[in-house]
Amino acid sequence: MMIVDLHCHSHYSDGTLSPHALIEQAIAHKVKLLALTDHDTCAGIQALKQASLTHASLIKVLPGIEFSVRWKKLDIHLVGLNIDVAHDKLSFYVMQQQEARLKRAHKIAESLEHLGISNAFAKVVAIAQNASIGRPHFAQLLINEKKVNHAKAAFKQYLGRGRPAYVATEWLSLAEAIAVIQAAGGMAVLAHPLKYKLTHTKLHELVMAFKAAGGQALEVVSGTSTLKERNEMSKLCQTYDLFASSGSDYHGNFSRIGLGQQSALPEECQPIWQHWII
Ligand code: AMP
Ligand code: MN
Ligand code: MN
Ligand code: MN
Repeated sequence: MMIVDLHCHSHYSDGTLSPHALIEQAIAHKVKLLALTDHDTCAGIQALKQASLTHASLIKVLPGIEFSVRWKKLDIHLVGLNIDVAHDKLSFYVMQQQEARLKRAHKIAESLEHLGISNAFAKVVAIAQNASIGRPHFAQLLINEKKVNHAKAAFKQYLGRGRPAYVATEWLSLAEAIAVIQAAGGMAVLAHPLKYKLTHTKLHELVMAFKAAGGQALEVVSGTSTLKERNEMSKLCQTYDLFASSGSDYHGNFSRIGLGQQSALPEECQPIWQHWII
């Protein structure tokens, strides 16, 4: 089966690699179709396209994004694939999401100041450099400040939902995110549906809401998913008549699997990439 990877991150969000380095990695792993899906930004797409040009016979790239979405007080992720990054409405929403991120970063920094970290905002900006600031940058700050030993602990103790430095954020709604992805010519994928730790009922409710709003695919294979999880997602696709997507959710150096190294889709799935491969 052809190797594809429709979910990964560059240093324009919380990944560690440049788009150029991602292309090199993708080629080394024989990925034939790669989508860059940074959190709430398309800033790396131009560089990704540029880098892919010299390898046009080996790899095709798709412009993508991973939108943060607010659904019933939960933070849900929607991947938009094959979007026109210059589309007006999309650019407007991306700007709005970036403002929400910055506002949230100030609030998280404020909470961390109360917990004894001085100049938290300036420090996190120095960590994020030119990237749009995300919680993994705050996790790094907590590590630097010796509050925790690793990122997972930073989320568990400080940054995760219900923890002292968690900040509820007014992201786009599910319907807005799906509509804008499609207005920009793309397809909407519900990212890693099992990451939200929903009950069976709530998960079905989410997938139903996603489908009702025009959503097109579920990420059946994500990162290091298990066979049981992939089969469960495949079933959900059949039940709700949705395409299947697949991505490593690669974030660079610290990720457990490389680009394109996630498992194959269950056979019965309808791959979403059939739209982009001739
Ligand atoms: P944000 O979009 O800024 O809220 O950050 C979410 C990102 O944090 C996710 O895309 C992951 O890359 C990372 N993340 C979420 N939960 C954890 C965790 N428990 N441990 C390590 N990284 C996490
Ligand atoms: Mn991330
Ligand atoms: Mn995600
Ligand atoms: Mn991701």
